[in-house]
Amino acid sequence: MKQLQMVDTKTQYLKIKAEVDAAVIAVMESSQFIGGKVVSQFAENLAAYHHSKHVVTCANGTDALQIALMALDLQPGDEVITPSFTYIATVEVAALLRLTPVFVDVDEKTFCIDPVAVEKAITPKTKAIIPVHLYGQAANMEAIMTIAQKHNLFVIEDNAQAIGNDYIFSNGAKRKTGTIGHIGCTSFYPSKNLGAFGDGGAITTNDDALAEKMTMIAAHGQSKRYYHDIVGCNSRLDAMQAAVLNIKLKHLDEYISARRKAADTYDVGFSNHPKIRVPFRDSNNRHVFHQYTILLENVNRNALHNFLAEKGIPSMIYYPVPAHRQKMFNTFGESSFNLPITDWLTERVISLPIHTELDNEQQQFVIKHVLEFVNN
Ligand SMILES: *Cc1c(COP(=O)(O)O)cnc(C)c1O
Repeated sequence: MKQLQMVDTKTQYLKIKAEVDAAVIAVMESSQFIGGKVVSQFAENLAAYHHSKHVVTCANGTDALQIALMALDLQPGDEVITPSFTYIATVEVAALLRLTPVFVDVDEKTFCIDPVAVEKAITPKTKAIIPVHLYGQAANMEAIMTIAQKHNLFVIEDNAQAIGNDYIFSNGAKRKTGTIGHIGCTSFYPSKNLGAFGDGGAITTNDDALAEKMTMIAAHGQSKRYYHDIVGCNSRLDAMQAAVLNIKLKHLDEYISARRKAADTYDVGFSNHPKIRVPFRDSNNRHVFHQYTILLENVNRNALHNFLAEKGIPSMIYYPVPAHRQKMFNTFGESSFNLPITDWLTERVISLPIHTELDNEQQQFVIKHVLEFVNN
């Protein structure tokens, strides 16, 4: 059996090696390392994939979120509603910009921000909501957009884990996640569903003015070369990453299918187990399984993690500490947030290996050992 890994970017690369190598060498030969045609082509291809009017490329997913927030002209102390059950980047950028993250609880089935909790958290200072499409499952965007419209709030989707997910509205209309809110942010960190060979990020929007402003912000606020109209930052997707991403984007739907197929195999292996809750498949979106995260009931989760490690099976806890309990937010006083579902999930979730290169033998091995432990 092939050794199990959380992600297998190497085997994935080997399958497209000739094409990727040629594209990277072409960038080196052109010596156009920053900007240029390869980067603008990728932005166009990504926009076409999303049916999004604009794509602004940038250096990573965290910058994408930061640039999005910078474009909204918020004032220090303005409130941004986000889940605490997420990767720290989502909320760190708000704090960095002297905005106030307001953590709300998640839905216990989808693990994504709970629209009812969002509406309850709105105050006169609230300016934006950042739903996170966690593990590849979309947040309830229809409800979130209704709330946002009612209260005149911006919505920035953190789409770092769900690129390619199709969200389906109750009237049947379909949209890619990342194109439903005012702005969508994604990451091309190598282990993400569309991974580069280094860092990268992108922002999607259908709003012309926001696109123009975010393009400026990512380039030191410049409107034309050496004329800086607003304070920005330096955040660029480099041409080598764009060259790799141009090729991998063509395979993204195939990669998503492979992840969904692997998830189906796990679902069957764990079906109807009293101690294992498999990922919820909400009918309003097509889960892209950035992670396959199960919820354990009456199982010593950390002991399972260690047991699997002994068998050569990696597993991860995403995330061991929710944002509202991180030291960086101590100044807020963590007790000011009461997030029982977030705390409950944090103690019980565990993510199993999932990627595009998993084979059935590997998955049966994982299933067998998870069951062996939880049945004891
Ligand atoms: C990966 C990730 C980010 C940040 O992306 P980077 O490219 O690592 O900066 C933000 N939010 C979520 C939910 C992520 O998973």
